[in-house]
Amino acid sequence: MKAPINRIIPFSNVDGPGNRMAIFFQSCPFKCMYCHNPETIQMCIGCGLCVKQCPVGALTLEDKKVVWDEKKCVQCDTCIKECPHLSSPKIKWMSSDDLVEEIKKVQLFIRGITVSGGECTQHRDFLVELFTKVKGLGLTCLIDSNGSYDFSLDEELMNVCDGVMLDVKATDPSFHQKLTHSDNELVLKNLSFLLEAGKLEEVRTVILPTFPDENEQTVRAVSRLIQGKCRYKLLRYRPFGVRKEGLDFCGQILASQQEAEHLKEIAFLEGAETVII
Ligand code: SF4
Ligand code: SF4
Repeated sequence: MKAPINRIIPFSNVDGPGNRMAIFFQSCPFKCMYCHNPETIQMCIGCGLCVKQCPVGALTLEDKKVVWDEKKCVQCDTCIKECPHLSSPKIKWMSSDDLVEEIKKVQLFIRGITVSGGECTQHRDFLVELFTKVKGLGLTCLIDSNGSYDFSLDEELMNVCDGVMLDVKATDPSFHQKLTHSDNELVLKNLSFLLEAGKLEEVRTVILPTFPDENEQTVRAVSRLIQGKCRYKLLRYRPFGVRKEGLDFCGQILASQQEAEHLKEIAFLEGAETVII
């Protein structure tokens, strides 16, 4: 079994507790307006448009599939900027054994791995196989998810997963739809299920400068539910890397520290105990 891997960060201290290897899978069912890595949303359809744009000839089209020569690539990201399909030609198809080899190189320096994306749960069978092997190395396995996968129906995955870091982008269904082009019913079901199951490692909400009322509504609802049972991270929106459609919706400016501090106070008032900006 192989999965499309967009990127591996050997050491990360922002993807869960301690030093962790972060593994980013390709493809996501949401299309968030503020996505900083929109090239992770879709699988490449082999249209070939990016091939001609590569300044060093690192891309070729073979049998309607793009082949990326990593050795030639100078990481200019022209291909990503040129892709009109929210994809990237710089994907590696890796087996769980390939990833375990990478993990073993840094095993002594990390507490575990965090799988992210894209949306890593799109590759559920692969995750079960990978986590089983990684737990055998004595490392922890965390999932970073947008909540589009029903964790309550997957005991096998829950048994090998140490925790989920869940995005709750908005609690209002119509605003969530506008923001992500997707429904949030399952996200909210996952929030309750993971909390009850003791598998909720962290909840994250992006604060948008253009939607103060929606920010507040989400922060209040999440804080009331999680109380002191898990960490709540408020992420300030940054326009960096956001596609034009997203900039039109979310704005060109950073969410202010003042707004973040204001929402942190609200979160405390509603009962959240560990709130990080
Ligand atoms: S990032 Fe690499 S593959 Fe893409 S255009 Fe630049 S050199 Fe070519
Ligand atoms: S990465 Fe994008 S532009 Fe390049 S072949 Fe795939 S879909 Fe086409």
